[in-house]
Amino acid sequence: MIVELLQELIRNRCVNDGTPESGQEVRSVATIADLLGERGVVVEPLPGRQSVIYRVPGTNPESPALLLLPHLDVVPANPAGWEVDPFAAEITDGFVWGRGAIDMLNVTAAMLVVFGEFWRGARAPLPGDLILAAVADEEAAGRLGARYLVEESLDLVDAPFVLTEVGYPALPSPVGLIYPVAVGEKGPFWTKVKSSGTPGHGSTPFGADNALAALVAGVGRLFDAESPVTMTDVWTSLVLALGFGPDLAERLLDPEQLDGAIEDLAVEDPLLARYFHAITHLTISPNVLRGGIKANMIPDQAVAELDIRALPGTDRTTVNEVLRKLMGAPGEKLELEPVADHLSYFSGRDNPLWEAVAASFFDHTGSNRLQPVTIPATTDARFFRSRGAVAYGVGLYDDQLTFGEFLALFHGHNERVSIDSLHKTTDLLRSTLHHFGHLTA
Ligand SMILES: [Zn+2]
Repeated sequence: MIVELLQELIRNRCVNDGTPESGQEVRSVATIADLLGERGVVVEPLPGRQSVIYRVPGTNPESPALLLLPHLDVVPANPAGWEVDPFAAEITDGFVWGRGAIDMLNVTAAMLVVFGEFWRGARAPLPGDLILAAVADEEAAGRLGARYLVEESLDLVDAPFVLTEVGYPALPSPVGLIYPVAVGEKGPFWTKVKSSGTPGHGSTPFGADNALAALVAGVGRLFDAESPVTMTDVWTSLVLALGFGPDLAERLLDPEQLDGAIEDLAVEDPLLARYFHAITHLTISPNVLRGGIKANMIPDQAVAELDIRALPGTDRTTVNEVLRKLMGAPGEKLELEPVADHLSYFSGRDNPLWEAVAASFFDHTGSNRLQPVTIPATTDARFFRSRGAVAYGVGLYDDQLTFGEFLALFHGHNERVSIDSLHKTTDLLRSTLHHFGHLTA
């Protein structure tokens, strides 16, 4: 059943390109109504942009609620880069292929299956309420989805414990496989860098005040700049767990030597190196550059857009200071405009949900070696962690894709998930809920 469900979610093509009219999650909300045999509480801030909420009341009003928070939308896919049609949800070699197969419709489908068992009464209710909120618009900052729900209808989704994305595959270590649990994520500090000059004729550039000059020079420096390092306890525990040789481990844990160590690591495993860089640095990626309108006109306006992601302890003031410093003299002429600011949040581990996740991994792998990890990107978890809720991302995968290969499939070509992994993740979630019930009775 879960395979067909995932295929239907992929084929629903809830492609969110960032425009308010895209996404059309109404299609997958209909799929869920079919599955659960009933329409849930639908929240629709704009036509077609539906999120849906279902609740199985708990047996003990004192017990904490648990929220399952999957998203329904996916990012666009360029079929030219794919070996298969990204929205056909073909099955080849034991994998379901398609946009959303790992971000995050695989976990969405697993959550729906497990929630459905409680909804239909096939499983006894948990002590606390079990809430399912399948949301729109995660891929565009949640403005029409999770963020909207928290701001406008908090009573529908409020819960001290949340399961959402990302569930990662296991990592090899000297003591056997260790199982990542996403406990925190970086905070976005997207920024526009604006430049202004004086318009003129392109035939006479001598002494011109071209808006592109300072912008290209200032932003150009950001590509090679060494950005500041933040070492979290999650990073330290990851390095120690992975069992690198003492020399490499020491370098990875020394802010002065970290960049060189990552460069060395990139020779062997460029994808892991990229991840390591992201989860230890204030990353700055200039991704948009606009200026000028015509080849014979000197532009008086130009703008760059930077994707900046920060770890805990960094706020807008720090980000702007870093940008000013890295852009140097050309940056003095540039104006910085915040686009989206959100602090980075992490959840602690001393709570029943962590224990339930650990017990569940033990059930299915014989190991309870959980490894807290950082998500370099942003998920809907932030709207809940920032309110003090504990939020984790978990999944259980077979060994057909490495951690690095898995990361590269996010928003990439040929996104796919093995059928075996779909079943494993469903089993993991089912027993996580079972243990959570016992621990919160
Ligand atoms: Zn996602």
